[in-house]
Formats: sequence, C-alpha cells, structure tokens
Amino acid sequence: MEDKNNRKLLGKIELTGTLKCLTGLHIGAAKENMEIGALDSPVVRDPVTLEPFIPGSSMKGKLRSLLEKAYPDLLPNRDGGSYISRHECNDWEKGENNNKNYSRNFTYPGAVSCPVCRLFGATGPGEKQRNFPSRLKVRDLKLKNSEKLKNIDTGLLYTEWKFENSIDRITSAANPRSLERVPKGAEFTVSIIYDVEDVSSLKDDMDNLKLAIQLLHDDALGGHGSRGYGQVKIDFDTIEAKRISHYKGIEGNTRSVEKIGDISQLVDFFQNKQLHEETAS
Ligand SMILES: [Zn+2]
Repeated sequence: MEDKNNRKLLGKIELTGTLKCLTGLHIGAAKENMEIGALDSPVVRDPVTLEPFIPGSSMKGKLRSLLEKAYPDLLPNRDGGSYISRHECNDWEKGENNNKNYSRNFTYPGAVSCPVCRLFGATGPGEKQRNFPSRLKVRDLKLKNSEKLKNIDTGLLYTEWKFENSIDRITSAANPRSLERVPKGAEFTVSIIYDVEDVSSLKDDMDNLKLAIQLLHDDALGGHGSRGYGQVKIDFDTIEAKRISHYKGIEGNTRSVEKIGDISQLVDFFQNKQLHEETAS
C-alpha cells in the first residue's frame, strides 16, 4: 500500500528511442500573420532551428487520452471548459464529483489508485487541494533526420503541403484548404522519463505505459487521424533504470533492457532491496 503522505524518489526509468512517421503528421501551430498564399494550418516549429518538432505535451496528452479510453470505469468527471469533459481525479483518495456537463454524479477512484492519474498526474481542486504531480515526463520530440528531409522539393522547409477539400452537396462549391505536414519517413527522438516513487505500483504503471504506447501505434498522433494523418511507430533503443543511489555517485545502480516487453525485469531491480543496501553500504 502506498504511503499517501509521502512521495519519495526511489529512482528513474528512462525510455529512449525513435518515433517514425508512417504517414504525414500535422501538429498545428498558431499562425502569426496572414500572408497571401500562406498555409491555412502550419505545423509547430522550433523558433531557432526552424525544424518541426512534436511537443512533449502533445504526445503525453495523446497517451493519456488513449489510456483513459482503455479503462471504461473512469468517467469524465472533470469539466475542462468549452463543453469538454475528461477524467481527472480531484484528490489522492476516491470521491464524488459532479461534472456540470452531465446531470449525474461520478465517483473517481483517487489519483493514488487511478491507472491514468497515477501515471499522468492530477490537480486537486477539491477541499483538500491535493495535487498528484505526474510520474511521467515526456520530452519534446526533436527531428532526427533533418539532413534527409532538407532536400525534399515542396517549397517548404522539411515539410509538405496537403490540400483538403469539402464540396457543397447542392451547389458543388468547393472549400479547399491547405495543411502543412511533416512527411512520411520523418523521425523524431523519444525520451520518456518515469519517476519511481513506489515499488508496489511500479509494475502496474509500466504495464499501463506499455498499453498506452501500443494503443498509439493503432491510433494517430496530431490532427486529422481519421483521414490517414499521424500514423506513427515508436522503437525503443534502451530502457534504463537508475536507482537514486546512482545519482549519488554509487556504482552498480543502473540496469537496462532493450524491449518494452522486458520492462518487468526493471521492476525486479527496484524490488531487490537487499542488493540496493549492499551496494549502498
Ligand atoms: Zn484518475
């Protein structure tokens, strides 16, 4: 059972790898100015290098929403504004919440035992105002193969245009619009860091992270997924566990696996308290 009033850091697990775009990807940015002939919907770019990137928040939000759908008992208790409802526990422990978008009360399990909020975090607007900060950090995903994409002949730097159209069913009037996409074949760095705070929920958290990533492979990242955009594949190079003693300079406190399927070996690594103490002494 978790100690509800104490969140110590036992170590970290870092997953590093590559995200490959199997189809064009659109993660939109706000347009700064209106130019004649400009794209209706540009992609988000690094202001210094001008390379397109995937904000960590976009990836984290997508993984969260996919995991939430995989647990149908988690109801959308939180009114996110603009008639958007989603699930987010209001406290560490379970409680009732009335989402004003619906005419009934929902029970939430509490962030400590919630498969989604324990991993992705929850803010606590309730009486106790107990936030549960995310155990997961998703770094911004940077373009890896900019050299390859630099030479594509589209008139855009590293990206392509894609035209979408809708046709009025009576007058046949067309409403064409242009979207910018990162092309198929673009590769981005992936770095996901998980804070190990409690050994008893570590395996569940890892299983849920694995589940969310598997669901992403059969879903889509970014906009217009139902029309083929944003099919991605993540391959991990290494998944490295580091006990807190590693950061304190004590050797022998890291262990790596290559496949996400082997992540249970890292759970054992944190569970092995005897080894932990021997190495630390
Ligand atoms: Zn929750």
